Amino acid sequence: MDRSRGPRTTDILTKLPGFASLFVSALGTVVLLGWSLGIPELTRMLPGFAPARLLAGAAMVLSGAALWLVRDADAGTFRRFTAAVLAVVVAAIGLASISERLIARAVDWSLLGPRITSIPGLTSSLPINSAWGFVLVGVALWTLCSRKLSRSRAPQWIGLAIFLTGFFALVGRAFGVSAFYSPMPGLPMSLWVMFALQVLGVGIVFARRWFGFSALVMDKGPGGKLARRLLPPAIAMPFVVGWAALILERAGVYGTEVGSSFFAVTIVLAFTWMVMRAARAVQRADAERLAVLGREQHEREVAELALVSAEKASLAKSDFLAVMSHELRTPLTAIMGYEELLADEITGPVNPQQAQQLSRIKVSARHLLGLIDEILTFSRIEAGRETIRLEIADVNRMIEDSANLVAPLAVEKKLGFIVHLLDPPRYMRTDPVKVRQMIVNLLTNAVKFTETGTVSVKAATSGQNVEIIVHDTGIGIAEEHLDKVFDPFWQVEQKATRRAGGTGLGLTVTRRLARLLGGDILVQSSVGEGTSFTISIPGLATATPTDTPTVTG
Ligand code: ATP
Ligand code: MG
Repeated sequence: MDRSRGPRTTDILTKLPGFASLFVSALGTVVLLGWSLGIPELTRMLPGFAPARLLAGAAMVLSGAALWLVRDADAGTFRRFTAAVLAVVVAAIGLASISERLIARAVDWSLLGPRITSIPGLTSSLPINSAWGFVLVGVALWTLCSRKLSRSRAPQWIGLAIFLTGFFALVGRAFGVSAFYSPMPGLPMSLWVMFALQVLGVGIVFARRWFGFSALVMDKGPGGKLARRLLPPAIAMPFVVGWAALILERAGVYGTEVGSSFFAVTIVLAFTWMVMRAARAVQRADAERLAVLGREQHEREVAELALVSAEKASLAKSDFLAVMSHELRTPLTAIMGYEELLADEITGPVNPQQAQQLSRIKVSARHLLGLIDEILTFSRIEAGRETIRLEIADVNRMIEDSANLVAPLAVEKKLGFIVHLLDPPRYMRTDPVKVRQMIVNLLTNAVKFTETGTVSVKAATSGQNVEIIVHDTGIGIAEEHLDKVFDPFWQVEQKATRRAGGTGLGLTVTRRLARLLGGDILVQSSVGEGTSFTISIPGLATATPTDTPTVTG
C-alpha cells in the first residue's frame, strides 16, 4: 500500500512547478480580465476583500510564464534568457511600487507614452507586502535562469520566503491581525496575491529537486515518506484549527478561555496522531531494512560456504589424482623392467613372436607412463606445488632434444618433419625441463592430428621473448573450439582422438607451464588446412650457460 503511494506523490511533486506556473498565470489572467472588462468582482475573488491591482495581475501572468519556461533544469538558453527578462520585469514592478510607497517617488508612466496613463488601474502601485513578494519572485526566477545559481540553495530559500510572505498575509487575514496583511493602513494584500505567492513559492522550491529541502521531500526512502506525510498536516492543521476556534469564539459559542483550551487540546491530539503515524512508518521501514540486511547476510554466508567447499573439493581432487598417478607409476616401472629383462634375453631365449609381443608391451607401457606423468604434472600445477628451476639454457638444444623424441612418430606416419633453429644460437634464462615438455606436447599433437604433409617447429625472438612455433598441415580446429582446447580433459569428438587416445590434458598443462614461466600460448587454425601453436616466454639472455642454476617455487 505504501509503495504505491510513495511514487505517486513524488510524481505529482515533480510536476508541481508546471502546475504552479499554469495556476498563477490563470489567477493573473482573471485579474487582468476583471480590469479590462470593468468587472471589479473578478479582481476581489470574494466579496468584501481588497481588489488585486492591475500590476499584480500582470506580475502574476509574467511570473507564471517565467516559471513555466525554467521549470526544468535542462531548459535551453533561449528559454532561460526569455525567463530572465520576464523575471526582471516582475522584480521591477515590485521595486517601483516599493519606491512609491516608501519614498513617495512615483513612477512617471507618461514617459512610456501619453495614452498609457489612461489605462484604468495601471498607475496604482502595489501594497508594500505584495510588492516585496514580487521582488522576491523576480529574484528567485532570475536565480533559476542562471545555470550556476539554479544549482545552489538560493532558489529554495527565496522560494520559502515567498511562500511565507503569502502565508503570513493569509493567516493575518484569517485571524483579523491587520498588521500581518496590511502593514500600511488601508493597503491590504489581495486574496489573489496571497494565493499566488504561496503557489509560486512552492513551485520555485520544487523547480530544482535534487538537494536541500525539496530533495528531502522527494526522497524515496523513509525520510522522504515521512516528510511527504507530515508536512501538509503540520502546516495546515494549526491554521485550520486556530481559525475554527476563533470563528466559534467570535460567534459567541464560547469565551476566550474555552477557545484557547479547545485550540490547545485539538493541536495536542493532532500532533500526537502525527507523531504516532511517523513512528509507525519508521518502525515499518526499519523492519524492512533489517529483513533485507538479514537476507543479504544469509546469501553472503551461503556463497562463502559454497566457495570454501568448492576449494576443498578441488584440492581433494588434485590430491586424489596425484596419489593415484604415483601409485600407478610404481607397478608400471616394474612391468617395464621385466619387459626389458625378457627382451634382452637375460632370462632365456625369446622367439620372434614373443619378441613382437614384448615390443607391444613396451609401447603400451611407455604410452601409459606418458599419460600418468601428464596427470601428475597437471595435479601438481593445480595444487600450486609445481616449482621452477631457472637456468641458462640453449634454445636450439631444447628444440632439438624435443624434436628428437617426436621425429620417429612422424617418420612412422610418413610426414615431413622440419626443424628451424636460431642462427646464431641464443640462450635464455628459463626452466628447460618445462620448455621441453611444452614442445613435446605440441609436436605430439601435431603428429597425432596430421595425416599427410609436414610438421614443423621453429624458433624466433621478439624483444626479450623467445617464440617457439609448432605448425602442422593436419585436420585443424574449428573456430568455436579454439578456446576450449586449453580446458582440462577437453577433446574434439573425432576419430583421430579416439584412435590416438590421450587424456585431453596436454594443452592444459602446456598453457599452465607457459604462464608459470611468465609467458603464454596462442593458437591459430583453420579446419582442413592446419594448426599453429605459438609459445612465447620471456628470459632471452646475453649470457652463456656458466651461471649457476637458481630454484624458485
Ligand atoms: P593428451 O595430450 O592429454 O594425450 P589430447 O592430445 O587429446 O590428449 P590436448 O593435447 O590437450 O589433449 O588437446 C586437446 C584437443 O585439442 C585434442 O583432443 C584435439 O581435439 C585438439 N588439438 C590439439 N592439437 C591439435 C592440432 N595440432 N590439430 C588439431 N587438433 C588439435
Ligand atoms: Mg596432446
